[in-house]
Amino acid sequence: MTDVIVVGSGIAGLTAALHAAERGCRVTVVTKGFLADTNTRWAQGGVAAVTAPDDTVDSHIADTLTAGVGLNDPAAVRTLVTEGPDRIAELVHRGVTFDRAADGDFARGLEAAHARPRVLHAGGDATGAAIQAALGAAVRTARGVEVLEHTMLRELVIEGERVVGIDVETGGTTRRLRGDAVILATGGAGQLYSHTTNPVSATGDGIAAALRAGAAVADLEFVQFHPTALAVGDAFLVSEAVRGDGATLIDDAGRRFAFDAHPDGELAPRDVVARANARAMAAQGGRPVRLDATALGAERLARRFPTIDAAVRARGLDWSREPIPVTPAAHYLMGGVVTDLDGRTTVPGLYAVGETARTGVHGANRLASNSLLEGAVFGARAGEAAATDRAWPPVEAPAAVPLPVVAAASAPPFTRAALQELMWEHAGLVRDDDGLRRAAGVLAAWAADPRLRNAEDAGLLLVAQHVVGAALARTGSVGAHFRADEAGPAVTSLPAQEALAC
Ligand SMILES: Cc1cc2nc3c(=O)[nH]c(=O)nc-3n(C[C@H](O)[C@H](O)[C@H](O)COP(=O)(O)OP(=O)(O)OC[C@H]3O[C@@H](n4cnc5c(N)ncnc54)[C@H](O)[C@@H]3O)c2cc1C
Repeated sequence: MTDVIVVGSGIAGLTAALHAAERGCRVTVVTKGFLADTNTRWAQGGVAAVTAPDDTVDSHIADTLTAGVGLNDPAAVRTLVTEGPDRIAELVHRGVTFDRAADGDFARGLEAAHARPRVLHAGGDATGAAIQAALGAAVRTARGVEVLEHTMLRELVIEGERVVGIDVETGGTTRRLRGDAVILATGGAGQLYSHTTNPVSATGDGIAAALRAGAAVADLEFVQFHPTALAVGDAFLVSEAVRGDGATLIDDAGRRFAFDAHPDGELAPRDVVARANARAMAAQGGRPVRLDATALGAERLARRFPTIDAAVRARGLDWSREPIPVTPAAHYLMGGVVTDLDGRTTVPGLYAVGETARTGVHGANRLASNSLLEGAVFGARAGEAAATDRAWPPVEAPAAVPLPVVAAASAPPFTRAALQELMWEHAGLVRDDDGLRRAAGVLAAWAADPRLRNAEDAGLLLVAQHVVGAALARTGSVGAHFRADEAGPAVTSLPAQEALAC
């Protein structure tokens, strides 16, 4: 019997686990918090797939390639889109109740940069929670699946050239789990930044472990930022629709600054607004800018935006009376561990899926609502490959980006907050050679001194070095990667930038 270890319990990991178990494998799901502590459960808008009779695979492919500015892998995009409808059917079968229209057909949302309404949602804006609940229940009752919560991947175990298991930490002790295949589904790395929509678990652990094991990574310079997250308490997305309804962005002096960046002001493409916010924050010592929705009135805010209204009020703010602090926030990592179409990495025995993986579907920027789909499609493929693989075909990887050779700079003592601030300032929305080199120097100094670091921090530091290295190597602006020193003229008007949605 094949033993498969799945690390991570979001949509990608649970889908992989179920597919491997259904092919007769003995599966262990390892997750560092509770089963539902994932990015998946926070996903709001929905999951994109071709399910309408007047929609086409070619249209969804074209939208995905436009968003990715053509840096996508076309074969991966075709796989994602063509297999999407089957994975939606599977989610329904496993108990996800997608919202329906009056005629009983799926209700389909239209999101930015999609040519047609194709985004399925559940519970209005609670799609991720519905998926997490259904897959979590399925895994708990599946034959052959064991779930180990509060169990953290520390290191991949390699014998010869093959991954044969993992070392985990649980309750303060370390133990070794052996398996024929290890599937990394550890999500993204939003915690690289001082402002992020991601939960605290998103620390890039799987990418770091894969790097230490010698696996190829790619596209790590492509980090998607959302323009408006609440800057009080845990970051919470404030939808662009609030600005669409008339809310404005102001700085400390009460000045509307978005028109300095674009004639459409607050309704400019999201990356433009996000950068305008970041610039205004830098000019006022890093303090958040404010979103002024007072003109909308309490009744309208509560009726039109009930979820956001509740989140705002839960933080002790009354946005019908006073502007609320908002900040751009790191939202999604397009790059990751390089895989083939079945989740195989460049290290035999090791697979990667979901936000941890770089399948090539997103290119330089992610089309809204394609990430849940990616987790479902490639999670299924990796689970099946792990169950059936007998040989390890060569996995092609783009040319590796070497870490920059920089002298270690003088650095403040390492803390997670210091790393997040450094990344925010120099490897965030707006980058340039100078700032990236400065960041690389500080990161190198921290890397040379392993004291006072826990495992998550060590992983974040390693991933940060690779993000900065990749951002230095890509000297032109493209997609989500904006170089102030090399910006091409077309960057701010790319349709891809509209894709910075949910
Ligand atoms: C606020 C928000 C809204 C979003 N809205 C949408 C949307 O509407 N549509 C869409 O398509 N996408 C959306 N996204 C993106 C999407 O939610 C994620 O990309 C996707 O859920 C990632 O799934 P995953 O399975 O790869 O990882 P996750 O769901 O993040 O799961 C990762 C798992 O790995 C575990 N883990 C991490 N490190 C370790 C370790 N060392 N040891 C053990 N376990 C570990 C974590 O605990 C977690 O269980 C949104 C994201 C956010 C943050």
